[in-house]
Amino acid sequence: LESAPCAELTQALHSLVNDTFGVTDRLSAKLSNTWRAMDANAEALRQSRLPDETLRQVVTLLAHASGLMDIIETSREELEQSRQALRQMEEKLAETTRELGVDALTNTLNRRGLSNCLSREIARAKRHQDKLSVIMADLDNFKRINDSHGHEAGDRMIVHFAQLIRFVIRDADYVARFGGEEFVLILPEADQVHAEMVALRLQTILAKTPLLYEDNEISVTFSAGIAEYRDNEEGAEMLRRADTALYAAKAAGRDCFRLAQ
Ligand code: GH3
Ligand code: MG
Ligand code: MG
Repeated sequence: LESAPCAELTQALHSLVNDTFGVTDRLSAKLSNTWRAMDANAEALRQSRLPDETLRQVVTLLAHASGLMDIIETSREELEQSRQALRQMEEKLAETTRELGVDALTNTLNRRGLSNCLSREIARAKRHQDKLSVIMADLDNFKRINDSHGHEAGDRMIVHFAQLIRFVIRDADYVARFGGEEFVLILPEADQVHAEMVALRLQTILAKTPLLYEDNEISVTFSAGIAEYRDNEEGAEMLRRADTALYAAKAAGRDCFRLAQ
């Protein structure tokens, strides 16, 4: 994500947001001045006894009110333009990160990144006659978190889980977001025994580290399927075996992992 196009886009986003803030600041300054003037007029109106004077105050008040509406309308249009530009920038940024093979929410690999990375690692394992394992991990009963704490809490949990995964894997390992709350860990040079150890470490750290969200501690578990590379199999086949093992772990009651056949 530190590549040039993303940095440029992020920079552009920042300046757009700043512009938007500038507009809102100007709007609120103008509004408070106008309100002060109107307030003074209203006070004078209350105190006045003369019909002429009253009329004059009413006319002034109306003029202020109409000026106020012009200010609001102009600022609203400016804000709308900024918002549209921001939306376009965000779409562009999401598209660029997707193309780079990165998941925008968690900064892990996306499916495209996973596929490229797994093919590369399989080729390497073949070449060097090395071991290679994948873990497919899916949070248990994740819907309940969305339902009881909201979608934002669910998103935060997904990011939290991704961070804990990064914490337990080695520098040479990879993590990809496979779907909503489902991740694939690619472990080069790891046999299934090592992969089980990684899954166990993740299970332990996740149990000890609930997500802190709006004064709540939200706990979650995950289930996983582990597959060790078999000679001449393709990435898709390896993932399919890991997925079947994950399904078996779910069927066995969740919060556990199973080895692929
Ligand atoms: P299971 O233990 O069987 O995995 O149960 P589950 O509730 O986790 O079930 P499932 O995997 O079928 O559902 C995952 C839910 O995650 C469905 C969807 O509404 C939600 N989800 C998918 N992507 C996202 C996301 O990016 N953010 C949030 N907050 N929720 C998501
Ligand atoms: Mg799930
Ligand atoms: Mg899922």
